[in-house]
Order: sequence, then C-alpha cells, then structure tokens
Amino acid sequence: MSDSVSRRGWIASLKAALAGASAGWAGTAQAQRYVHPRRVFLGENTRKEFREALEQGRIRAAIIPTGSTEQHNEHLALDCDATCATLIAQQAALRLYPAVTVSTACPLGYAPYHMARKGTITLRKETFTAYVYDVIRSLTTHGIRTILVVNGHNGNHAPLLESIPAWRKELGVTLDSETYISAYRDEELAEFLTSYRLLKEGKLDTIARRTAMSHASEVETSILMAAHPERVRPFTMDEYDRAAQNYESGYSPAVARYLEPFTKEGWPKGGNPENARDRARQEQALYATKEKGERLIEIATRFIAGKVDKMIEATAKGAPWPPAA
Ligand SMILES: [Zn+2]
Repeated sequence: MSDSVSRRGWIASLKAALAGASAGWAGTAQAQRYVHPRRVFLGENTRKEFREALEQGRIRAAIIPTGSTEQHNEHLALDCDATCATLIAQQAALRLYPAVTVSTACPLGYAPYHMARKGTITLRKETFTAYVYDVIRSLTTHGIRTILVVNGHNGNHAPLLESIPAWRKELGVTLDSETYISAYRDEELAEFLTSYRLLKEGKLDTIARRTAMSHASEVETSILMAAHPERVRPFTMDEYDRAAQNYESGYSPAVARYLEPFTKEGWPKGGNPENARDRARQEQALYATKEKGERLIEIATRFIAGKVDKMIEATAKGAPWPPAA
C-alpha cells in the first residue's frame, strides 16, 4: 500500500468518525445545551490555535477545575465532583468567551475519609497541592496572568485555601480558588430545593438529616440530572436498605489507616452518625430534578464567571488580588 493510499484511508476513517460523533452530539437535547463547539477546553485546541489566541490577546485567564473520584452514595457516578467542577468551569468560560481557557481538570482529590466506601480514590494532601501547583506554574509560564481554580470537592477546599497565598506571591499572578458550592446561599436554595426548604422550616428532625446536603444529595444529583444524566442511576430507599452497608465500624486494617486521623478527632463527629448521614443523603437525593439542576448550574456559572471577570480586570489594572477589603 502506498503512502497516499494509506493516508486517504486514514482521512476517510477520520471523516467517518467525526460524522458519527457529530450526529451523536446533535442527537441529544442535553448535548446541544451543554456541549459546545467553541473549544474552551485547552486540550481541545492545537498548539497553533492556543499560541495564536495568546498572541492576539484573546485568552486573558484560565480556570483549573479540581474534583475527586469518590463514592457518591448508591446512585451517582464516582467522578461526580470532577464532572461538576469541569461543567461549571466550561459554562463560565463560554459566558466569558473567548477570554478564558479551561485547563485539563484534576480528576482526583483529597478524600481519605471516604475510603470506607468502595470506589473512592484519594490523593495525599501534598500530592493534590503539588499537582495543582504544577498546572498553575505551567499556565503562568505560557504567559497567563489570571488563574482561578474552580473546585468541586469539599476535601480540596482547605488545602487550596492554605496554599494559594504563597503560590500567588511566588508566581506574581492574579490567582485564587473557589469551591463552586460557595455560590449557593441557603436562603436562595430554600426557594427551590426541598431539602433546604425543610431545613429552613425546621422540619429536618435529626442532625444526620440537617447535615446531609453537602454531598451526593439534592444539589449534586440535580446538577448531574441536568447536564450528565448518564451519570445518575435510579434507586429506591428499599434497595438502599437491603444493601445493608455499615460505615461506622468493621473496617479492614488498610481502610482503618486512612480513617485514623478522623476517628482520632472523634468519629462520628458531634454525635453525627455516619450511617444515618449516608442514609439521609440518599433520601434527599430523591428530591432532585433536572429543572433544579439547571437553576443550580446557572447560579454557579454566574458566580464563577463574575469572579473571573473581576480577576481579569484586576490584572489589567495592576490592582492587588484579592482586592483590599
Ligand atoms: Zn460530590
């Protein structure tokens, strides 16, 4: 076979694959809404496209999504946090198009306290922060002066907050981190989320039910139903109870090593039993809908885009970040 023949064959198969992919992409309403032909993800661009966008001053900031691959109860895919952070980063970048590029997401985070549940992968805190630092340093090396880490996992929040000020000083750029959940105010959520309305009305009768909102419950389930329904499984509380899982004792020695720092601090914390809280999360996930997810995505997108916009402005003016209070 001559080179030109094999080359024609490769091009034909690539064309066929692209045609198939675009037919598939166009085939779902959800894809039409959330998958965008504007390539805001850094990795979707060629070096030429990225270089020219930088040279022409089109790209003024970068977002780095950070997530986790960890248990999200019985019904959500393990990569929920990485998926949600990436989604919000992408939606914010589209809103500010073409000023923002979204770097390759950090799909793993700091989640040792979830290790009793199968499927969780945790980084050590120092691995996570070293990874994020390396991504930030790479982007600044290419001349990006404004960077926001958009985090989707609670366990990453404190390590980022602790590290960012020193990195900002060292690299001399407008740098910050934001956990997208910070966009949500309990009062606003109580207007359209059942679990938050019940909390506001004092109708959540146990500490487990009052603290179940942060993970795998109504918020995250709704977001995935709206944007990634393929990552949500149907379930019933009957199925949940029949699985009869125990997260409070009987750990293997390997799991116990991960949990030790947390059990030392007193687990369950403040009399908040792990098993009851896990069950409460499962109950509250039943309130989730696609429509609620769309509102949650909109609120978080507005919040993140607003923050990046202010950061770009600070960089342009040479103003300090964070702005003086
Ligand atoms: Zn999560």
